[in-house]
Amino acid sequence: MTERYQHFINGEYVAPSEDRYFTSTNPATLEELYEAARGNAQDVDLAVKAAHSAFTSSAWSSLNATQRGHLLRRLGDLVGENAEKLAMDESLDNGKLLREMRGQMAALPEYFYYYAGLADKVQGAQIPAMNPAILNYTQREPLGVVGAITPWNSPLTLTTSKIAPALAAGNTVVIKPSEYTSRTVLLLAELADQAGFPAGVINVVTGFGAEAGAALVAHPLLAKISFTGSTATGSHIASQAASRFIGCTLELGGKSPNIIFDDANVSNAAMGVIAGIYAAAGQTCIAGSRVFAHKSVYDELVEKVTARARSIVIGDPLADSTELGPLAFAGQLEKVSSYVELGAKEGATVLAGGCRPEGLELPGYYYAPTVLTDVNNDMRVVREEIFGPVAAIMPFEHEDELLGMANDTEYGLAAGVWTQNLSRAHRMARKLEAGTIWVNTYRAMSPMSPRQGFKNSGVGIEHGLESMNEYTRLKSVWINTDESPVADPFVMRS
Ligand code: NAD
Repeated sequence: MTERYQHFINGEYVAPSEDRYFTSTNPATLEELYEAARGNAQDVDLAVKAAHSAFTSSAWSSLNATQRGHLLRRLGDLVGENAEKLAMDESLDNGKLLREMRGQMAALPEYFYYYAGLADKVQGAQIPAMNPAILNYTQREPLGVVGAITPWNSPLTLTTSKIAPALAAGNTVVIKPSEYTSRTVLLLAELADQAGFPAGVINVVTGFGAEAGAALVAHPLLAKISFTGSTATGSHIASQAASRFIGCTLELGGKSPNIIFDDANVSNAAMGVIAGIYAAAGQTCIAGSRVFAHKSVYDELVEKVTARARSIVIGDPLADSTELGPLAFAGQLEKVSSYVELGAKEGATVLAGGCRPEGLELPGYYYAPTVLTDVNNDMRVVREEIFGPVAAIMPFEHEDELLGMANDTEYGLAAGVWTQNLSRAHRMARKLEAGTIWVNTYRAMSPMSPRQGFKNSGVGIEHGLESMNEYTRLKSVWINTDESPVADPFVMRS
């Protein structure tokens, strides 16, 4: 019988109010994996109310910041102890390579430890007052119930980037994971319970975006929404949050440039292009999907990338030798293949891929690593996020021309630069319109380094010290230390 998961609310598994479930499928084999509760507004209401009463309960609000840090540290330990199971479950759910998910799970405890360390570093300041009798200071406070809505491509890492700072700051959370990857987020909530987090501090409602997700965003007791996903959904969520004057942090899509200058080590750069667009089958927000190569190295780069793309080992994501697994679900496969067809109609040359890999026995949603040339910035394959293993490679001659093309996008998530010229590296870092710039590397990430999407790639900051501000509000306190009577009650004081 298929395994069945319910919502995790107030420290226990709770059946969905309508007794409806949906199925999660392995995208490599198309086998059914498990069923998860299909949440609705009633389930969300239960979870948000549980989080709201936990926020004010003495079990949570009487803990000091150091004690919250201890809980996060314990949760990090438990994640580490369960890393193999979590990695396996994520790989089965979304088709990403087991060895990539093992790497993510090995790093995940560090996220909890980092925020555990930050919990008791959140502080206000004494503000200089014009009147020496006034003591003016600021204090940072938690917001209340934070809603976290996350995608399927790196379920636990992206969830942790939201809930670890939110909990460190003293908030409570309700998570709505992607409908394609519910299981590991539920297991994380269970581990948090084992770690000693009071009931109601971490809740998970599974289900679809238009049902559970929309109900979470609309809930009147929600103090903040933190969302990672597509720009279209993020825009919808931002307008709803704005209408209720609640804050939102948005980490959205991208169409990142990966730029190879004439002085680059072309072999390294080619590997950087491969890492940027074929790792995780291109299903990463930071995918380097627009490749710009200086015309003097263009042919060499295209040849190296195409040769490697054709030799990528495609197969079972659980096998150590596999380099590319399936796309996560049928809609992803349809989207990727229709974009490549469109590109070909618009005049692109398909140098590699552009089809299902040949000779593959697995029935899943596989798509071969694809190289497109003869493309330009006016084509939809270059302008829109494909979210698959499709690289569009374009030549450039002058730096100004390159900057014009690289920045001519609605997105601004990340950019890669390959050069041996130090001045140029810094100049590019200054002039490229993206929140993360990598030089002679690609796809590096750490909980310590703040990341922010520019333009339509996001609002607010995740990771780093700055992320704590996303989950706190600042209060200014004025204390009159002078006991003499107020001289003139009709004049503003400072
Ligand atoms: P998506 O926007 O379709 O869904 C993301 C989440 O939002 C899911 O949990 C979904 O159920 C929920 N959702 C959908 N409609 C909703 C609604 N109306 N109200 C509330 N919630 C709703 O995105 P996806 O396909 O899951 O993820 C892929 C996208 O995520 C890509 O665009 C990718 O670039 C982006 N992404 C961004 C980052 C980043 O850090 N910037 C990281 C990973 C993924």
